[in-house]
Amino acid sequence: QVLDPGATAVAHPNIALIKYWGKRDEQLMIPYVDSLSMTLDVFPTTTTVRLSPEAPADSVTLDGSPAEGEQRRRVVAFLDLVRELAGRTEPAEVDTRNAVPTGAGLASSASGFAALALAGAAAYGLDLDPTALSRLARRGSVSAARSIFGDFAICHAGRGTSEDADLDSYAEPVPVPDFDPALVIALVDAGPKAVSSRAAMRRTVETSPLYRSWATSSAADLTEMRVALRRGDLDAVGEIAERNALGMHATMLAARPAVRYLSPATVAVLDRVGWLRANGVPAYATMDAGPNVKVLCHRTDAARVAEALRDAAPGCSVVTARRGPGARLRTGAER
Ligand code: ATP
Repeated sequence: QVLDPGATAVAHPNIALIKYWGKRDEQLMIPYVDSLSMTLDVFPTTTTVRLSPEAPADSVTLDGSPAEGEQRRRVVAFLDLVRELAGRTEPAEVDTRNAVPTGAGLASSASGFAALALAGAAAYGLDLDPTALSRLARRGSVSAARSIFGDFAICHAGRGTSEDADLDSYAEPVPVPDFDPALVIALVDAGPKAVSSRAAMRRTVETSPLYRSWATSSAADLTEMRVALRRGDLDAVGEIAERNALGMHATMLAARPAVRYLSPATVAVLDRVGWLRANGVPAYATMDAGPNVKVLCHRTDAARVAEALRDAAPGCSVVTARRGPGARLRTGAER
């Protein structure tokens, strides 16, 4: 008997320059705000989905070990959605590997669910265009909607009722031909975060008095960001991205109880980014739900920035990324 090769997809994480933070519908995974990101060329997730009609249930392997608890539940719920769309019922075997630490604020959920959407749709014979694929990936993780696309992508929050927004919330590419910066990632702590992004954003939306004002200013940031990207203006892009991220962290710090992802090492790196700027090196920081810092700079300054970050947080590892490709299926020969 020939083993069904299934479908294998590769997707890369993305880092938002205008952040997604807060869901208005947790069931349908509908964000409150639009977001805009750069897909990276590092830390891919590789996911294979193979149908196993004889198996009693789905089997999910994450980084070589059986997935358990919430991690398994999210993947099985996602497969249920794919099966519903495809009108199929067979269980599947999922094998997924992240090149990045899982759940450390390095967007493993983005690359993870983008790869699962593409491999899952292919394995169950769903023929989806990129918009439909992005909409599907969003149901796994909102940020995954953006990792379907390479380079820069905007994810629309969608308007109207949840049902309307479910159709209108997806990502699409933002063409920026003349902007190819470096993103230097300082991994100050690669361990799993104490509070998941999901729990943290829920608490922020429910209790932070700063959340609404950040959401309003984020919409204005997005408009300015699009202009800055079109101009290929690193300083403007960086300034807007940095204030948008710091504002998002301010909403969390004002939540009750506070959610604080920034560690002493994060602050040391932020100080060093300010020092670089004061010394004539354009460098701008952004942070997600975790202590790691991503620094946007010119490619020609990347080595210098990397060295400065290493020096600011001894023991941290530093990885330099650039804009990367969208999610893609592996062909037979590559498997
Ligand atoms: P960020 O806050 O930057 O998005 P993150 O994506 O690492 O960081 P979470 O949003 O908390 O953090 O998501 C991590 C969760 O995503 C994991 O606990 C797991 O449930 C899910 N996940 C991660 N990688 C995969 C994968 N390859 N396949 C399926 N699910 C994954």
